[in-house]
Amino acid sequence: MSQKRLAVIGATGSIGRATLDVCRRFPEEFDVRALAVRSNIEELKKLVDEFKPKYVVIYDDVAASNFALYDESVKVLVGHEGLMQLIDEGMDHIVFASSGTEAIAALSASLDRKIEVSLANKESLIVAGPWIMEKASLADPLRPIDSEHNAVWQCLLGEDLNEIEEIILTASGGPFLHSSYEEMKLATPSRALKHPTWSMGSKITVDSATLLNKGFEVIEASYLFALPIEKINAVVQPDSLAHGCVRFSDGSVKMFLSEPDMRIPISFALSYPKRLKIGHLFHRLAITEKWKLDFLRLDENKFPCYSLARRALQMGNAYPPIIVGADEVAVEAFVKGKISIVDIFPLLEKVLLSYNGPSNLNGLEEAISLVEFGRRIARELCR
Ligand code: NDP
Ligand code: MG
Repeated sequence: MSQKRLAVIGATGSIGRATLDVCRRFPEEFDVRALAVRSNIEELKKLVDEFKPKYVVIYDDVAASNFALYDESVKVLVGHEGLMQLIDEGMDHIVFASSGTEAIAALSASLDRKIEVSLANKESLIVAGPWIMEKASLADPLRPIDSEHNAVWQCLLGEDLNEIEEIILTASGGPFLHSSYEEMKLATPSRALKHPTWSMGSKITVDSATLLNKGFEVIEASYLFALPIEKINAVVQPDSLAHGCVRFSDGSVKMFLSEPDMRIPISFALSYPKRLKIGHLFHRLAITEKWKLDFLRLDENKFPCYSLARRALQMGNAYPPIIVGADEVAVEAFVKGKISIVDIFPLLEKVLLSYNGPSNLNGLEEAISLVEFGRRIARELCR
């Protein structure tokens, strides 16, 4: 069987590194052709030495000029144009694992060209779900990597989407699951950045601490699985062993379990419909009489960002992009010690309420401009 020619966008990040670890173990399956980063060229150089890609994309032009002469056998593509050029370089599969919104246009172009895509980047679906899903169907070519959506996708294999009654996403509850409001108010960024079960980039780790991330995931699931938000719920499963459940019209429920390690959903997305033999890397779930799984209610009073995200989608597709932009600014302000983590919710709510344009948008460009609106208003409010 020939190797898949693969591009990894966000190669130096948490998901990018996990993806490359899967590739490292299966060189006969994957030819890592391209690596894209924003500016971390020191890490990129190590990856270039190891994987010998034909292309790199460096989003930041200063970093790109510093890298230019490092390895003359590698073609350096730069910035937004570089990401767009990459799509036309004959990739079989592209992993979208960058943070932020800059790769949405490249994702959209990949789907136009029917290239297989593994999608980790959250912002893409939250901001542009309606237009992305016009071009994509589940699995062929769009494969979700985020553990909850990957779990639901796996529960849905061979099923009729019309027979879904409910989707239940799980949340670990984050580092403040058992903390009081006062403790959260005083929590330092380093406390919020210590996630109990997952190891992830800093933005998503803070979003997991406020549970905005779970609200974002409900929005993504609504677009991905074409279900109204009322049919998508979340429950806390503190061990992060159950990732998602689907309840069907005949009363049956499927639940997906695995160790909390992103290489499991990533490997499935990369190699679907077959599975790669990576099970030996993880603890074997000991499903015996001694085993139990705990579930807790998601406390929406304590974690109002979760409900805010849900409400945003109910208000119309203009609102999720605004939260994405505002939250980028809010999380940055929190990480820099300018605001408390409990200030994030009122800030996002104020930004949403300050918008008085149309509730539903006509296309991707409008959605992207509302991300910028969200950033701008949040910056003004932070001042
Ligand atoms: P990280 O912050 O760890 O990594 C981000 C990566 O994206 C880095 O490689 C960064 O490069 C790169 N990057 C940022 N902007 C650009 C750009 N414009 N062009 C090219 N590359 C860029 O993030 P995570 O890996 O944690 O998350 C990535 C995405 O996946 C996010 O949307 C997140 O919500 C989502 N996700 C993450 C999960 C996780 O377990 N981490 C789980 C589910 C979803 P550089 O190093 O140069 O800055
Ligand atoms: Mg997740």
